[in-house]
Amino acid sequence: MGVGAEEVVWGGRTLGETPAKVHRMANPPAVPGAAALERMMDFDLSEEQRLVRRTVREFAEKEIHPHVERYEAEERYPTELIAKLPPMGLMGPMIPERFGGSFSDVLTYGVICEELARIDWVVASVVSVSNSLLASSILKAGTEAQQERWLPKIASGETLCSACLTEPGGGTDLGNLKTTATRVDGGWRLTGTKVFISHAAHAGLFFVVASIDVSKKHKGVTAFLLDPKGESAEGLTIGEFPMRTLKRDNLAEVHFENCFVPDEGLLGEPGGGFPILGAALDTGRFSVAARCIGQAQRCIDLAVPYASEREAFGQSIGQFQMIQEKIANMICRTEAARALVYRLGRMKDAGVARASLESSMAKLTASQAAVENALDAIQIHGGYGLSTEYEVGRLLLEAKSLEFGEGTSELHKKIIAETALGLRKQ
Ligand SMILES: Cc1cc2nc3c(=O)[nH]c(=O)nc-3n(C[C@H](O)[C@H](O)[C@H](O)COP(=O)(O)OP(=O)(O)OC[C@H]3O[C@@H](n4cnc5c(N)ncnc54)[C@H](O)[C@@H]3O)c2cc1C
Repeated sequence: MGVGAEEVVWGGRTLGETPAKVHRMANPPAVPGAAALERMMDFDLSEEQRLVRRTVREFAEKEIHPHVERYEAEERYPTELIAKLPPMGLMGPMIPERFGGSFSDVLTYGVICEELARIDWVVASVVSVSNSLLASSILKAGTEAQQERWLPKIASGETLCSACLTEPGGGTDLGNLKTTATRVDGGWRLTGTKVFISHAAHAGLFFVVASIDVSKKHKGVTAFLLDPKGESAEGLTIGEFPMRTLKRDNLAEVHFENCFVPDEGLLGEPGGGFPILGAALDTGRFSVAARCIGQAQRCIDLAVPYASEREAFGQSIGQFQMIQEKIANMICRTEAARALVYRLGRMKDAGVARASLESSMAKLTASQAAVENALDAIQIHGGYGLSTEYEVGRLLLEAKSLEFGEGTSELHKKIIAETALGLRKQ
């Protein structure tokens, strides 16, 4: 019996109604084979990790999902949804308990990012930027005072974070920054522009990279922690960055004009920012890859029930081999990506400090899976795939954006191939 059968009731609704009604369900109904997929997804996770997955999934479906489309339509940053994360311990999964965080292991952090991203790009991004780029950098390179000042506020949700890396001249070549940092009495003055900055207008902490000497390229790169609402508010302009997608993230262009950062805002050594950035991106690639498998999974979760229910030529479209091929491809590429992402998480849990090759493999494979799954899911939905009444169309551009963030696909292919050819050290 397919889910389109008249007598199947799910969530108080009778299925087999017009497709336009099906989309309003937070959880599409399980089809008979769904349990087998869940078994694969949980393969080799500990009991605690499975519990975290179940809890976060339930939370995201119930508390976040019903509101996502509305925030996007209203181009409104989901402050109220983000406020639901701290009581669940979801704002600090990479922050140790002594700073108010909920860190247990890196793989669990990945599962959290995966499950949040399955439902909402922005909420998952808040967690991933705060933990991978900010908190992890502060833990690795920050002074005790910096850790005490910022980590509890990040974990409690009091302070949201933003990472200001990309410049108008390019985001891939981060050793070639144009934003400058000039030494002055008691601190530094930053001048330059950053673009595509997520969460900037809502953040209370910026991670900024600037150069103390542009001629030195990556050896001039210096990392700063900047308080955009306090001591560094003067000389800082946060403007709207025009985007075709993710309007609810309010992406920003951030301009620094002689913006003052006190000495306490220097993260690491002057000119020592590039390795800090590298380590941050290494963890960032893990969490973005985890987010990608969440999005890829969501496409499966939406396409499979639709294919079971939608009929053409007197039978469900799921009975056509060309639709089955798409579903098979979606599942295989998601599982392949998940295996790479989980392996990377386990490597980090085993104490491997930098895993550039594995991070690139996981990020490349997972982001491509997210994009290809969105394309297949749209195709399975036919014209409805591009209707605003269905989620899959939105997922495509959101997935595509993950092919840029934390390194483009081209950059990751370059890293993988150069490592194989002995042109780059791990
Ligand atoms: C939704 C969204 C959110 C974002 N959020 C943030 C944020 O919060 N903070 C932030 O700092 N940035 C953010 N970014 C920016 C993102 O990190 C950059 O888009 C990315 O780093 C690429 O930089 P670019 O767009 O300037 O492309 P470019 O660096 O100009 O690259 C253009 C093209 O050339 C290719 N290319 C470059 N170098 C090579 C090479 N050596 N070999 C082969 N191909 C190459 C690239 O892969 C790409 O296809 C965000 C972007 C998006 C879309």
